[in-house]
Amino acid sequence: DIEVFTLGETMVVFQPEQMQSLEYVQQFPKRIGGAESNVAIGLSRLGHRAGWFSKLGEGSFGQYVYKYIRGEGVDTSSCLFTEQALTGVLFKEQLSPEDMNVYYYRKGSAASLMEPEDLDEAYMAQAKVLHLTGITPALSKSCYKTVMKAIEIAKKNGMTIVFDPNLRLKLWSAETAKKVLNEIALHADVILPGLDEGRFMTGKTEIEDVAESLMAGYDKTIIIKIGSKGAYLHTKEEKVYIEGFPVQQVVDPVGAGDGFAAGIISGILKQEPLHQAIKRANAIGAMVVMSHGDFEGLPYLKAVEQFMK
Ligand code: ATP
Repeated sequence: DIEVFTLGETMVVFQPEQMQSLEYVQQFPKRIGGAESNVAIGLSRLGHRAGWFSKLGEGSFGQYVYKYIRGEGVDTSSCLFTEQALTGVLFKEQLSPEDMNVYYYRKGSAASLMEPEDLDEAYMAQAKVLHLTGITPALSKSCYKTVMKAIEIAKKNGMTIVFDPNLRLKLWSAETAKKVLNEIALHADVILPGLDEGRFMTGKTEIEDVAESLMAGYDKTIIIKIGSKGAYLHTKEEKVYIEGFPVQQVVDPVGAGDGFAAGIISGILKQEPLHQAIKRANAIGAMVVMSHGDFEGLPYLKAVEQFMK
């Protein structure tokens, strides 16, 4: 009985506590990292049943990722384990407050082996929303095909497709990224780009032009994230800015976009007016930037309601 389905890669993240070159770091606390599982965890904390699909390596790291996400109340029952590859890992290196390097060990990972045949249509069809990011199709050819198959299943079953482009230029060329992100956007009902991503995808500069171009002549909902300024909503009927919440201090900006997506999807599931969903999404984004970690700061429903007051 899931309400939302998402798929993507979650890696094991090794991020040392001290600010130092990895040449000299000797201890690496272990966490998880993945945009789609962040959204699923965010939705779970808001009281929804989210299903997250991925392929994980047989063995300790795969088990760790699987159990961690399941422990957050996400339905992981459709996940698959493979002996053919390892679970992806990454290392973060903080050299100064402004200077962070990320080293990915994900090429050929278990998640990159996802295939269209791995998708369980009956399982997916329970959901009202399909959440997609532009990361999954960048992992491999078969991951791209899996995303396209997920779109086909969603269309067939009347699911709403919510797409966060999540541009990652480390994973593919700008040319391919632009082509595929636009292809997925064309199928999506709701598109949630950051302003820079929207500019990258459309080649336009002004926010209204970016949004209009993403509509591609269809009746889509475009919500452009603009950091501390909140968000810009663009539909056939209205074009309006929805102000963000003031934040005393940005502790860690990462993960705001995933929290924002969880807020929007929650609104769709509750059939709320868009303005209300965006207001909540802005609140969640603001709460995430005020706390450490990508997903640790994702709020529970009660906390968001309190924050919004
Ligand atoms: P991410 O860093 O997760 O990729 P993003 O680039 O997708 O984020 P942002 O625009 O940075 O998206 O943030 C998403 C949302 O979070 C914003 O639309 C806004 O609602 C909220 N937000 C982000 N930063 C701030 C801030 N400094 N103050 C208030 N709200 C913020």
